[in-house]
Amino acid sequence: MSYKVKLYNLRRVLFPRPCLLCRRGACIHSVPVCKDCIEDLRAVLKEPCRFCGLPAAECICTHNKDVRFLLWYELPVTRKLIAMLKYNAKRERVEFLADRLAALCTGHYDGVTYVPRRPKEKRLYGYDHARLLAEAVAKRLNVPLICTLECHGHIQQKFLSASQREKSMLGRYNAIPEAVLAYPRLLLMDDVCTTGATLRACSSLLREAGAKAVSCAVLAKVQTHYKP
Ligand SMILES: [Zn+2]
Ligand SMILES: [Zn+2]
Repeated sequence: MSYKVKLYNLRRVLFPRPCLLCRRGACIHSVPVCKDCIEDLRAVLKEPCRFCGLPAAECICTHNKDVRFLLWYELPVTRKLIAMLKYNAKRERVEFLADRLAALCTGHYDGVTYVPRRPKEKRLYGYDHARLLAEAVAKRLNVPLICTLECHGHIQQKFLSASQREKSMLGRYNAIPEAVLAYPRLLLMDDVCTTGATLRACSSLLREAGAKAVSCAVLAKVQTHYKP
Protein backbone atom coordinates (compact mmCIF):
# COMPACT_ATOMS: atom_id res chain seq x y z
CA MET A 1 0.00 0.00 0.00
CA SER A 2 1.41 3.34 -1.04
CA TYR A 3 2.02 6.15 1.36
CA LYS A 4 -0.75 8.23 -0.28
CA VAL A 5 -3.37 5.45 0.04
CA LYS A 6 -2.40 4.89 3.68
CA LEU A 7 -2.79 8.58 4.40
CA TYR A 8 -6.17 8.64 2.64
CA ASN A 9 -7.44 5.66 4.67
CA LEU A 10 -6.21 7.20 7.90
CA ARG A 11 -7.97 10.46 7.10
CA ARG A 12 -11.22 8.55 6.37
CA VAL A 13 -11.00 6.82 9.77
CA LEU A 14 -10.28 10.04 11.65
CA PHE A 15 -12.74 12.18 9.68
CA PRO A 16 -15.48 9.98 8.21
CA ARG A 17 -17.55 11.56 5.44
CA PRO A 18 -20.99 12.76 6.53
CA CYS A 19 -23.94 10.72 5.27
CA LEU A 20 -25.39 11.75 1.89
CA LEU A 21 -28.96 11.58 3.15
CA CYS A 22 -29.13 12.68 6.79
CA ARG A 23 -25.81 14.62 6.91
CA ARG A 24 -25.43 13.53 10.55
CA GLY A 25 -24.20 9.93 10.64
CA ALA A 26 -20.82 8.86 9.25
CA CYS A 27 -20.54 6.94 5.97
CA ILE A 28 -19.77 3.25 6.05
CA HIS A 29 -17.23 1.69 3.63
CA SER A 30 -17.66 2.72 0.01
CA VAL A 31 -21.36 3.63 0.30
CA PRO A 32 -21.89 7.36 0.88
CA VAL A 33 -24.67 6.86 3.46
CA CYS A 34 -24.69 5.98 7.17
CA LYS A 35 -25.83 2.71 8.72
CA ASP A 36 -29.29 4.10 9.48
CA CYS A 37 -29.91 5.43 5.97
CA ILE A 38 -28.60 2.52 3.90
CA GLU A 39 -32.01 0.82 3.86
CA ASP A 40 -33.64 4.05 2.58
CA LEU A 41 -31.17 4.19 -0.30
CA ARG A 42 -31.65 0.50 -1.17
CA ALA A 43 -35.42 0.94 -1.09
CA VAL A 44 -35.39 4.01 -3.31
CA LEU A 45 -33.26 2.26 -5.93
CA LYS A 46 -35.67 -0.70 -5.91
CA GLU A 47 -38.97 1.24 -5.79
CA PRO A 48 -41.20 -0.36 -8.46
CA CYS A 49 -42.85 1.53 -11.33
CA ARG A 50 -46.59 1.65 -10.65
CA PHE A 51 -47.34 0.49 -14.21
CA CYS A 52 -44.79 -2.20 -15.09
CA GLY A 53 -43.66 -3.03 -11.53
CA LEU A 54 -39.95 -2.81 -12.37
CA PRO A 55 -37.44 -0.54 -10.60
CA ALA A 56 -36.92 2.89 -12.23
CA ALA A 57 -33.64 1.82 -13.86
CA GLU A 58 -35.38 -1.09 -15.63
CA CYS A 59 -38.82 0.45 -16.28
CA ILE A 60 -40.10 -0.64 -19.71
CA CYS A 61 -43.10 1.69 -20.06
CA THR A 62 -43.22 3.03 -23.63
CA HIS A 63 -42.87 6.64 -22.43
CA ASN A 64 -39.52 5.78 -20.93
CA LYS A 65 -37.80 4.13 -23.84
CA ASP A 66 -36.01 7.32 -24.91
CA VAL A 67 -34.86 8.43 -21.46
CA ARG A 68 -32.73 6.36 -19.07
CA PHE A 69 -33.15 7.17 -15.39
CA LEU A 70 -32.28 5.87 -11.96
CA LEU A 71 -34.90 7.13 -9.51
CA TRP A 72 -38.53 8.19 -9.23
CA TYR A 73 -38.64 11.89 -8.46
CA GLU A 74 -41.70 11.63 -6.18
CA LEU A 75 -39.84 9.76 -3.43
CA PRO A 76 -38.56 11.89 -0.50
CA VAL A 77 -35.10 10.30 -0.66
CA THR A 78 -34.80 11.24 -4.34
CA ARG A 79 -35.70 14.85 -3.52
CA LYS A 80 -32.96 14.87 -0.89
CA LEU A 81 -30.42 13.54 -3.40
CA ILE A 82 -31.40 16.14 -6.00
CA ALA A 83 -31.20 18.94 -3.41
CA MET A 84 -27.78 17.67 -2.37
CA LEU A 85 -26.65 17.74 -6.01
CA LYS A 86 -28.01 21.28 -6.49
CA TYR A 87 -26.79 22.93 -3.33
CA ASN A 88 -23.90 20.88 -2.03
CA ALA A 89 -22.45 18.72 -4.79
CA LYS A 90 -19.29 17.23 -3.32
CA ARG A 91 -17.40 15.26 -5.93
CA GLU A 92 -17.63 11.90 -4.17
CA ARG A 93 -21.40 12.25 -3.84
CA VAL A 94 -21.81 12.94 -7.54
CA GLU A 95 -19.59 9.99 -8.35
CA PHE A 96 -21.75 7.53 -6.46
CA LEU A 97 -24.77 8.58 -8.55
CA ALA A 98 -22.73 8.76 -11.77
CA ASP A 99 -21.52 5.16 -11.29
CA ARG A 100 -25.07 3.87 -11.33
CA LEU A 101 -26.29 6.18 -14.08
CA ALA A 102 -23.35 5.36 -16.38
CA ALA A 103 -24.10 1.64 -15.99
CA LEU A 104 -27.54 2.28 -17.57
CA CYS A 105 -26.12 4.12 -20.58
CA THR A 106 -25.05 1.21 -22.74
CA GLY A 107 -25.25 2.81 -26.20
CA HIS A 108 -22.41 4.06 -28.40
CA TYR A 109 -21.72 7.73 -27.82
CA ASP A 110 -19.12 10.10 -29.22
CA GLY A 111 -19.60 12.45 -26.28
CA VAL A 112 -21.71 13.36 -23.28
CA THR A 113 -23.49 16.70 -23.16
CA TYR A 114 -25.98 18.34 -20.78
CA VAL A 115 -28.91 20.74 -20.49
CA PRO A 116 -27.28 23.92 -19.14
CA ARG A 117 -28.71 25.78 -16.12
CA ARG A 118 -30.11 29.27 -16.52
CA PRO A 119 -27.35 31.92 -16.11
CA LYS A 120 -29.07 33.21 -12.95
CA GLU A 121 -29.04 29.75 -11.33
CA LYS A 122 -25.41 29.22 -12.21
CA ARG A 123 -24.49 32.53 -10.56
CA LEU A 124 -26.54 31.65 -7.49
CA TYR A 125 -25.09 28.18 -6.85
CA GLY A 126 -21.65 28.77 -8.31
CA TYR A 127 -21.76 25.70 -10.55
CA ASP A 128 -23.95 23.77 -12.97
CA HIS A 129 -24.95 20.49 -11.34
CA ALA A 130 -26.12 18.90 -14.61
CA ARG A 131 -22.66 19.57 -16.01
CA LEU A 132 -21.02 18.05 -12.93
CA LEU A 133 -23.08 14.88 -13.30
CA ALA A 134 -22.48 14.73 -17.07
CA GLU A 135 -18.73 15.14 -16.53
CA ALA A 136 -18.64 12.22 -14.08
CA VAL A 137 -20.69 10.00 -16.43
CA ALA A 138 -18.51 10.95 -19.43
CA LYS A 139 -15.41 9.89 -17.49
CA ARG A 140 -16.96 6.47 -16.83
CA LEU A 141 -18.01 6.02 -20.46
CA ASN A 142 -14.55 7.08 -21.65
CA VAL A 143 -15.84 9.83 -23.93
CA PRO A 144 -15.40 13.62 -23.71
CA LEU A 145 -17.81 16.04 -22.06
CA ILE A 146 -18.98 18.54 -24.67
CA CYS A 147 -20.88 21.81 -24.23
CA THR A 148 -23.35 21.76 -27.11
CA LEU A 149 -26.15 23.97 -25.77
CA GLU A 150 -26.46 27.53 -24.51
CA CYS A 151 -29.25 28.81 -22.27
CA HIS A 152 -30.62 32.34 -22.55
CA GLY A 153 -32.40 32.69 -19.26
CA HIS A 154 -35.93 32.42 -18.06
CA ILE A 155 -39.14 32.43 -20.07
CA GLN A 156 -42.36 32.71 -18.02
CA GLN A 157 -44.18 29.39 -18.51
CA LYS A 158 -46.97 29.52 -15.96
CA PHE A 159 -49.79 30.46 -18.32
CA LEU A 160 -48.67 28.48 -21.33
CA SER A 161 -50.32 25.33 -22.69
CA ALA A 162 -48.23 22.18 -23.14
CA SER A 163 -47.57 22.88 -26.84
CA GLN A 164 -46.81 26.58 -26.23
CA ARG A 165 -44.47 25.50 -23.45
CA GLU A 166 -42.65 23.21 -25.82
CA LYS A 167 -42.26 25.99 -28.41
CA SER A 168 -41.04 28.48 -25.80
CA MET A 169 -38.50 25.93 -24.63
CA LEU A 170 -36.97 25.84 -28.12
CA GLY A 171 -36.39 29.60 -27.83
CA ARG A 172 -34.66 29.29 -24.50
CA TYR A 173 -31.73 27.21 -25.77
CA ASN A 174 -29.56 27.18 -28.83
CA ALA A 175 -27.19 24.51 -30.08
CA ILE A 176 -23.53 25.12 -30.95
CA PRO A 177 -23.16 23.47 -34.40
CA GLU A 178 -19.32 23.19 -34.35
CA ALA A 179 -19.51 21.14 -31.14
CA VAL A 180 -22.29 18.89 -32.46
CA LEU A 181 -20.69 18.17 -35.83
CA ALA A 182 -17.51 16.85 -34.23
CA TYR A 183 -19.48 14.45 -31.95
CA PRO A 184 -22.53 13.22 -33.88
CA ARG A 185 -23.77 10.57 -31.41
CA LEU A 186 -24.59 12.28 -28.12
CA LEU A 187 -25.77 11.35 -24.66
CA LEU A 188 -27.79 14.30 -23.34
CA MET A 189 -28.06 14.58 -19.55
CA ASP A 190 -30.19 16.52 -17.08
CA ASP A 191 -31.07 16.17 -13.39
CA VAL A 192 -34.85 15.69 -13.55
CA CYS A 193 -37.29 14.88 -16.35
CA THR A 194 -40.76 16.30 -15.60
CA THR A 195 -42.86 16.34 -18.78
CA GLY A 196 -39.91 15.64 -21.04
CA ALA A 197 -40.41 19.00 -22.86
CA THR A 198 -36.88 20.25 -22.12
CA LEU A 199 -35.20 17.05 -23.28
CA ARG A 200 -37.34 16.91 -26.43
CA ALA A 201 -36.60 20.56 -27.26
CA CYS A 202 -32.86 20.17 -26.67
CA SER A 203 -32.69 16.88 -28.61
CA SER A 204 -34.38 18.44 -31.61
CA LEU A 205 -32.05 21.46 -31.50
CA LEU A 206 -29.06 19.09 -31.44
CA ARG A 207 -30.46 17.10 -34.37
CA GLU A 208 -31.07 20.29 -36.35
CA ALA A 209 -27.47 21.26 -35.64
CA GLY A 210 -26.26 17.98 -37.15
CA ALA A 211 -26.39 15.31 -34.43
CA LYS A 212 -27.01 11.83 -35.86
CA ALA A 213 -28.35 10.33 -32.63
CA VAL A 214 -29.31 11.79 -29.24
CA SER A 215 -30.01 9.54 -26.24
CA CYS A 216 -31.15 11.01 -22.94
CA ALA A 217 -30.32 10.15 -19.33
CA VAL A 218 -31.52 11.85 -16.15
CA LEU A 219 -31.12 11.12 -12.49
CA ALA A 220 -34.84 11.13 -11.70
CA LYS A 221 -38.10 11.03 -13.60
CA VAL A 222 -41.51 12.30 -12.52
CA GLN A 223 -43.91 9.37 -12.62
CA THR A 224 -47.23 11.16 -12.21
CA HIS A 225 -47.01 12.77 -15.63
CA TYR A 226 -47.66 9.71 -17.70
CA LYS A 227 -50.27 7.03 -18.12
CA PRO A 228 -49.67 3.92 -20.19
ZN1 LIG B 1 -27.64 8.92 7.30
ZN1 LIG C 1 -42.70 1.20 -15.94
